[in-house]
Amino acid sequence: MEASSNTAAELNIQNKSTRILVGGSPSYRCDYCGQVISEQMQFSGVTIRDPDGGLTEHFFCEEKCMTSQYPDI
Ligand SMILES: [Zn+2]
Repeated sequence: MEASSNTAAELNIQNKSTRILVGGSPSYRCDYCGQVISEQMQFSGVTIRDPDGGLTEHFFCEEKCMTSQYPDI
């Protein structure tokens, strides 16, 4: 689902998705609270384009953490 609008002034969000971590994936930590995202856990992933043109992926254990980190998302 990518229906949300891209109106953030400072954030250049390329993609935002909800994913399920499957076996074999590297383990992630929530960017906001630091909780380890374990296997079979649903988490949110956000891809942001940096000012220098690179892409950075951020992961959050739940939507609440994502919106705490990026209120305009
Ligand atoms: Zn979190």
